[in-house]
Amino acid sequence: MRGFIIFCFFFAVFAAAETARFALGDAYIYAIKDQDNNMSSAVLLNSETARKFPKAERSSINAFLIAAKNFDGEVILVDTGFGAGLFDGLKRILPKNREVTKIIITHMHRDHIGGLTNGDAPRFDNANVFVPANDLAYWSGSSRENAKDAALLRKAYGDRLKTYKWGEIFEIGGGVKLETFRADGHTPGHTVIEVSSAASGAASGAKKLLIIADLIHFSSAQFPDPKESVRFDVDPAMAAKTRTRLLNYAANNNIPIAGMHLAFPAFGSITRRSGGGFNYAPYKTE
Ligand SMILES: [Zn+2]
Repeated sequence: MRGFIIFCFFFAVFAAAETARFALGDAYIYAIKDQDNNMSSAVLLNSETARKFPKAERSSINAFLIAAKNFDGEVILVDTGFGAGLFDGLKRILPKNREVTKIIITHMHRDHIGGLTNGDAPRFDNANVFVPANDLAYWSGSSRENAKDAALLRKAYGDRLKTYKWGEIFEIGGGVKLETFRADGHTPGHTVIEVSSAASGAASGAKKLLIIADLIHFSSAQFPDPKESVRFDVDPAMAAKTRTRLLNYAANNNIPIAGMHLAFPAFGSITRRSGGGFNYAPYKTE
């Protein structure tokens, strides 16, 4: 497989086929494209806004793997897509003697947890699975459509299914950590994850990266106007507030972003637009 290189400002993303990686101090963040997913503008809640855009835009369903460059310490997968391209991607990335040790789920929609199970069997033999406490509570024992997914995860993973609360930190080792940020609105437990590295003098200038999960579904409408919510947002008003707050945080602090529904390889930067909202600049391939 021939690799190609993505250049931008002060760091590089290397990509081959359906995986790409982003250097962050002593760690790599790998994007794994689970599948392509043309996003319909009809996903936008405001149909007048939707009419201003093409019927669909290029999008993907992505998961992200975070590990030390030498794979020492924890190997953490964030989301699993539907489980389509995920496993090929993992096979390509992981050394033979290493496997995923923890899985953090940003929220419990099917396109994020689908790869956890095959029927009612777990697809990860040794990893613990961490889901947002608020999402598990929201769906457990309810008649909502996703209740059966919550039950399925309990059945498949038993004691290995755990919950986390916002603010909880997952350590990779070597000063690399993942911090869970409150991002409710899309779902009650929706979580954004900041990856940071304490390494100094790294070739990569980036020290942090924000995995924005499902803050953005339709890039060309929602970056310029983060108030635009989508039909999948459980609480559209809260989702809009959260989107604005966290995109402001990334822009103000110059933190690159990665997203589950940004077009693969799904890494980029955002800057503030003069008229309000944000410009998203995906890291381009050459
Ligand atoms: Zn999603």
